[in-house]
Amino acid sequence: KLGNETVKAELGRATWKYFHTVMARFPEEPTEDQKEALHSYIYLFARLYPCGECAEHFMQHLSKYPPQVSSRNAASGWACFIHNEVNAMLGKPEFDCANLGEFYDCGCGGDEEGSAAS
Ligand code: FAD
Repeated sequence: KLGNETVKAELGRATWKYFHTVMARFPEEPTEDQKEALHSYIYLFARLYPCGECAEHFMQHLSKYPPQVSSRNAASGWACFIHNEVNAMLGKPEFDCANLGEFYDCGCGGDEEGSAAS
């Protein structure tokens, strides 16, 4: 069966939005348990990504650039960097990671801690 590029791109946009929002909500000073959770999550995310070809590429990027989980800034910066690796592979423009700022807002208002903290 032929792939459908439109659907694949839509899945990609939805996933990136979610992925970067997870990083933006990761604690600034995570516990060892939270670091371990994010690290495992990223590898499982890669392994289980529904587009098999994408998953394969992404796992190659991961082995070259292992996840940075020491803090929110490290995780967000790493995710931006690895998304840029995918952008480069697909011939897309580079995103300026200095503009990450409040770009990924979960809309959860004053719920400061984020889900990883509980
Ligand atoms: P997307 O790359 O989907 O980005 C969405 C929005 O995120 C952009 O409009 C911009 O506002 C913002 N953004 C862009 N770059 C960054 C960044 N570096 N950091 C933070 N925000 C940013 N497609 C394939 O054809 N082949 C693949 O092998 C492939 N692998 C993928 C692997 C993963 C893990 C994921 C999640 C997606 C993959 N995709 C792949 C899909 C592809 O990355 C795009 O999502 C899709 O092509 C749609 O691209 P887009 O131009 O709309 O922007």
